[in-house]
Parts: sequence; structure tokens; C-alpha cells
Amino acid sequence: LAFTDLGLAPELLKALTESGYTKPTPIQAQAIPVALAGGDLMAGAQTGTGKTAAFALPLLQKLLPLASSSASPAKHPVRALILTPTRELAIQVEESVKAYAKHTPLRSLVVYGGVDIKTQTPHLKTGVEVLVATPGRLLDHIEQKTIQLNQVQILVLDEADRMLDMGFMPDLKRILALLPKQRQNLMFSATFSNDIKKLADEFLTKPQLIEV
Ligand code: AMP
Repeated sequence: LAFTDLGLAPELLKALTESGYTKPTPIQAQAIPVALAGGDLMAGAQTGTGKTAAFALPLLQKLLPLASSSASPAKHPVRALILTPTRELAIQVEESVKAYAKHTPLRSLVVYGGVDIKTQTPHLKTGVEVLVATPGRLLDHIEQKTIQLNQVQILVLDEADRMLDMGFMPDLKRILALLPKQRQNLMFSATFSNDIKKLADEFLTKPQLIEV
């Protein structure tokens, strides 16, 4: 199986070649077609399996028709929201998204706590289609009205088990309540505890289960 068999756009395939990826990992081979088809996903995958590309590639492809480098900032609302438990993971994920989106006009940004919120605001004014965030800092931005989530079409919960372990459930509920009901949800977790299943029951719609 090759990346070209998964139905990915040439812009994305080019970035993959440049990243030195020759073929999809098992999680990518399973998750990418499901996510491209538009369904919800609950995937069990550890770090190092290539899970980031498994959600980032289909997400970028779904947003490609909406991207236009010449449109005004107001025309670039957040379309995809990726939530991660830690700042380190958020930074890493956004770096990957940027690399995969390199030949597209799609823009991404990462926001996380522990730094002055004002340093993150100017970038938001230009608009980004893909936002990577830790839950607490995202809520700060929502309160300050520097981020709006009413156009989000795709939600990714990365390392969902760690988010629950770290006590982010109340924050997640507050954020998810602000998203449009009609959206695609992709959840990734290294483990499937009862709490994770409850989270999935609450927020995913008929998710396809993938385990590698
Ligand atoms: P992740 O599990 O998403 O943190 O990815 C682990 C590492 O594998 C990262 O350094 C990726 O750049 C790399 N990677 C992801 N997918 C592939 C692939 N299909 N071929 C080669 N390397 C990959």
C-alpha cells in the first residue's frame, strides 16, 4: 500500500515525499480513508506510530477546497481544531501540520499556556484554518474573544486519555459545547479506559474503531 492509494491530494503527497515518507504506517493506512470519507473515528495509537499524520493529512485535505491565499482575514475562520494535553505535544503537532501543509495555502497556529497570551494574538488576526491548542489556553482566548470556534468542521482529540488523566474533562466539555454540532470528530488515545469510552459516547457519532 502506498500513500497514493489512500486518495490524498498531490499537494500533500509532495510534502510527504519531501519528508522522506515512503509508505503509510498501519494507523495511517486505516485511519486516513475513514477520515477522508467524513466519518468519526476512535483510534487506539501510541506515540511513534505516525498518528499525527493519520489525522493531519485527511484534515488538511478536507480543508483544501476552502483555502485561498488571497481571501481577507475575516474569511479564514478556524475550520479544524486539534486539542492536545501538553504544550510540548501541541508544538510538535503544529510543526507536523505545517510540514504537511507546506504546498497548500492552509495556515496553522499553536496556542498554549505558560507564555504571554498577547504574543499569540497578532497571528490570530490574520486568520488560520488549523488551530492546535491546549484546553486551558484555548478557553482563555475564547474568553478574550481572540478565537472563535463557530466555523469548526473537524475536531481532533489527541492523546485523549492523557487529557482526562490531567483533569481536562471540564475544559473539554466547555470547549466542545461551543463547536457546531455538525462536525467530524477524530479521537486518538493510547488506551481505552471506561472514561475514554464515556468520552467517545458523549462526543463522537457512530465512530469507527481502529486499533493498531
Ligand atoms: P507520531 O506517532 O505522529 O508522533 O510520529 C512519529 C514519527 O514518525 C514522526 O517523527 C513522524 O515524522 C514519523 N512518521 C510518521 N509517518 C511516517 C511515515 N509514513 N513514514 C516515515 N515516517 C513517518
